[in-house]
Amino acid sequence: VQRLRQGLGRSSSALTEGISGVFLKRKLDEDTLQDLEDILIQSDLGVETAMTITERLADGRYDKEVSDEEVRGILAEEVEKVLAPVAEPLSVDPAKKPHVILVVGVNGTGKTTTIGKLAQKLSDEGRSVMLAAGDTFRAAAIEQLKIWGERTGAPVIARETGADAAGLAFDALTEAKASGTDVLLIDTAGRLQNKAELMAELEKVVRVIKKQEPDAPHTVLLTLDATTGQNALNQVEIFRQTAGVTGLVMTKLDGTARGGILVAIAAKHGLPVHFIGVGESVEDLEPFNAADFARAIAG
Ligand code: GDP
Repeated sequence: VQRLRQGLGRSSSALTEGISGVFLKRKLDEDTLQDLEDILIQSDLGVETAMTITERLADGRYDKEVSDEEVRGILAEEVEKVLAPVAEPLSVDPAKKPHVILVVGVNGTGKTTTIGKLAQKLSDEGRSVMLAAGDTFRAAAIEQLKIWGERTGAPVIARETGADAAGLAFDALTEAKASGTDVLLIDTAGRLQNKAELMAELEKVVRVIKKQEPDAPHTVLLTLDATTGQNALNQVEIFRQTAGVTGLVMTKLDGTARGGILVAIAAKHGLPVHFIGVGESVEDLEPFNAADFARAIAG
């Protein structure tokens, strides 16, 4: 929570400075409301949420003096209202051996790191975990996953660079089943530069997994980098279509001024948000908490 505050503190300070600027000068009239709405939209909250907040604020307060604490309080309440329904812990079905988690997302958004952090969390909970280095395109991604495997004690199924990702996923699932592993975490490639190829590869991975286990993957996690702002919305669209995303992890909230985009994504997609990434180390993955997040945004 501390790091989330520090990171989001940057966005909220911009936001609350903006809010303070608006309310220092004027009372709550048409111009003030418009200025406030603009600030909220610039903070990536989304037009709809921005309008809801300004409307709610205007209700019963129009033409009156309003303190910026009051504005911040309402902002936090409204943001929490949007986020509360999507704050859902990741559930792992103990009856599945393995519960298959496919991790998708654009390169650099934190897939591999999130897999490492999750592997630690799950083994701390007493589950056996296996990792599959499904980003076969990048040698560095394979190496990175192996390092996370060593760090967390999870076996890593990997092949040489350029190997078929779907074949690797298939073999990993076979191994995980044979060893009675609780959770199989599968890394994937995220080359958005070649969208057609990326979609074809992800679809093939999913298809091949289903050949062995028709109800797998049980979870498809999409990692989103909070620092990318509005672009994250497009990424949700693309990966929903391609891979049937079931839940989100928003990373890099420790270093950003742009957490507001999560509010827009929640309002638009309603996908569960399971975790937030607040740093590069293994313990820097926190369950998503709507109230904490809303308070950090409102400042
Ligand atoms: P991938 O290409 O999607 O697998 O992304 P990586 O897991 O390799 O992460 C890309 C970079 O972002 C690495 O340098 C990570 O250490 C860093 N990273 C991942 N998650 C976080 C986070 O929550 N906070 C910060 N500050 N850095 C992160």
